[in-house]
Amino acid sequence: MRTTATSTRSIETGHGRLVFPCFMPVTTFGGAFPLDVVARPYLSRFAPALMASHYYAQSMKKPERPNHPLFVDSGGFASLFEGSSVEEHGDMACICTKYGKPLHPAEVLTFQQEYADIGATLDFLIPPGTDEQEAKHKQGLTIKNALWAAGHHVVESSMRLFASLQAWNAESAKQITEKLAALNFDGFALGGMVPRVRTPKVIFEIIGAIREIETDRPLHVFGIGNPKLIRALFEQGVDSVDSSSFLQNAVNKRYLDPHRGEFVPLDEVGSAIKACPCRVCQTLDVEYLRLEGALNNLALALHNLAALHSYCGLERTE
Ligand SMILES: [Zn+2]
Repeated sequence: MRTTATSTRSIETGHGRLVFPCFMPVTTFGGAFPLDVVARPYLSRFAPALMASHYYAQSMKKPERPNHPLFVDSGGFASLFEGSSVEEHGDMACICTKYGKPLHPAEVLTFQQEYADIGATLDFLIPPGTDEQEAKHKQGLTIKNALWAAGHHVVESSMRLFASLQAWNAESAKQITEKLAALNFDGFALGGMVPRVRTPKVIFEIIGAIREIETDRPLHVFGIGNPKLIRALFEQGVDSVDSSSFLQNAVNKRYLDPHRGEFVPLDEVGSAIKACPCRVCQTLDVEYLRLEGALNNLALALHNLAALHSYCGLERTE
C-alpha cells in the first residue's frame, strides 16, 4: 500500500472515533439520485464517514440515518442558485432562494446537532472571478456565521463543529484562518474549491496559508473527487475530502484505473480481473460492469471507491 496520506489526526464522534486521513463518499436523501439508496448500505464498508449536504439531508427520515459517522455540510451552495439573495441580520446572515424557506444559520445548526456527527457552519461561496469587494463581503459573512455558530453550539451536543472557510488566494485564506483559528472549533472545512480544480496551484496556496496558521486541527476540503488531486491535498496537510464522483463516473460507465488514478471509459478496460485486486473486479469482471442496470452501476461504483482508496493509500473500514 502507498503511504502518501500523512495525517495522523483523529476525532471522537457520536458514532465512534474518526481516524484521518479519509475520503467521505457523498450520499443524498429524498430520491433525487436513486442509486444513492442502493449504494448507501455498502459505503460504510469502505469509508470511515459519509457526507450529506444539508440541502438533501433534510429529506432524511430517522430510520435512514446511517449508523456511521456522518458529516452534514451547511448547504451554502444554495447561494449560487439563480435568484438567490443574502439577508443580513446583526450577527449572522441567511440565504434566501426561490425554493422554500430561507437557509438560516440557526436552522442549519439545529439540524446538524440532531443528525450529524460533524457539521460545518453556513458559508457563502466565492466563485473564481468574483470582484475583490464582493469576495471580501462574502468572506466577511462566512466569518460572521462561523462566529455565530461557535456562540450557539450546544455544549452538550456530541456534534463536532467545523468552521467553514472561503478564500480565493493565499492572503484571503490567511485572513479568514487568523480570525477563526482563535476560536474553539473542532476543525475547519474549506469550500468553493470545486470550480478551482483546474488550477490546483491556487488550491495548494490556499491550503498552505491555512496550514501555516492552523497546524493541529482537522482540515476538510469539500467536493474533491479527483484521485490525483486528493493524493496531492493529503500530502499538503488536508485530512479529509468528500465527493460523489465515484458514483457519477459509474453512472457514466467510467472505471477508475487503480494504478494511474484516472477514470477511463469501461470500453477501454480489457480485463478488470487483471486491472484491479478489489472484490468486485475479482468476482464480476468487466462484462458485468458494462451492462446497464442499477446493480451493475452499483458494482462499478464500489470498484471506483475501492480503487480510490488503494490509489490514495487510504485504509478501508472493511
Ligand atoms: Zn476493482
